Amino acid sequence: MKFYVIGTPIGNLEDITYRAVRVLSEVDLVLCEDTRVTKNLLNKYNISTATFSYPSDNLATDTKFEKIIKLIEDGKTLALVSDAGTPTISDPGSVLVQKIKEAFADIEIIAIPGPSAVASALSISGLPASDFTFLGFLPHKKGRETLFKEISVSERTVVFYESPHRILKALESLVKFTPDRKIVIARELTKVFEQIVTGTPADVSAYFNSNPDKVRGEFVVMVAGK
Ligand code: SAM
Repeated sequence: MKFYVIGTPIGNLEDITYRAVRVLSEVDLVLCEDTRVTKNLLNKYNISTATFSYPSDNLATDTKFEKIIKLIEDGKTLALVSDAGTPTISDPGSVLVQKIKEAFADIEIIAIPGPSAVASALSISGLPASDFTFLGFLPHKKGRETLFKEISVSERTVVFYESPHRILKALESLVKFTPDRKIVIARELTKVFEQIVTGTPADVSAYFNSNPDKVRGEFVVMVAGK
């Protein structure tokens, strides 16, 4: 019994391994977030495997979980992907993997490694990356300020994900809590308008405030340690 967890591109559809393409074409079903996103990827590689949108982690009692468990019981081999990057990394899938492990003591859960925005961003940041703190998405309200305080005393590089709706607010907080730290923003990695912006929080904030056309796409924020 095998269950695959497969990393897929974070933008550029060429960023997929030979092994991922082979496994995606061999499995019985691909569990995904948005079937349209995954079908777009599968079509590029002429993969005709059926897709099934899996339940988010908040819906632990969703009947879709039961359906997935039943498919595995029936001997089907499934693969899990997310819309972009590595499943479960700031993405749903953790509860599913946990439940499958609980339900089948002898199942082999196999990682097919692929891109993740956090690793890609750090690799080109020029910041120390031997060890770092990854915060995923910051909470929108409760606990947000506490995290910025934690970032301000961190001796390690801190990395977090941010949406275009909140990036200016996040930069404002970095100006307040970590004014002297070097920060690096990686935007739209692997895509046509990929961009890296480096500087103090004030520099980077000024840049994005005066270039509203750049406040779009996906962002990874990296803050140098103390
Ligand atoms: N599972 C994904 C991974 O392994 O990186 C992360 C998915 S999370 C829902 C989406 C967030 O990841 C975006 O808001 C952004 O912060 C980051 N991200 C994903 N793709 C990106 C890209 N091409 N460039 C920069 N950041 C990206």
